[in-house]
Amino acid sequence: MKILKIDHLGIAVSSIDEKKNFWTDALGLKLEGTETVEAQKVTTAFLPVGESEVELLESTSKDGPVAKYIEKKGEGIQHVAFRVENIEEALAELKEKGIQLIDQTPRIGAGGAKIAFLHPKATSGVLVELCER
Ligand code: ZN
Repeated sequence: MKILKIDHLGIAVSSIDEKKNFWTDALGLKLEGTETVEAQKVTTAFLPVGESEVELLESTSKDGPVAKYIEKKGEGIQHVAFRVENIEEALAELKEKGIQLIDQTPRIGAGGAKIAFLHPKATSGVLVELCER
């Protein structure tokens, strides 16, 4: 498995519109547009930071994973995403190492990337996303 870089940090917010100002005005990051991924009940906004990005996540539904996260833990970093060279290969290798996966096979996330989540039980409580684009 080859991890290329930290692709993005997924940050759960109650509202992208209301919460984006810190990232854009105070930090001066540029919001490169938003995208809704209905299958995951989430709207995402990407703000590039050098080689990586901040991904703001707003739930489109009260029972979506981001809404549940905010209900339980409040707003904040919801996941860390590593870009891998080959996601199928990475998942197979982790499975072989006994790492608990949420996604056994990749699904399509924002920007058409192939993504898969590892189970926080296997990662000291950090929701880890692998992505390939
Ligand atoms: Zn993500």
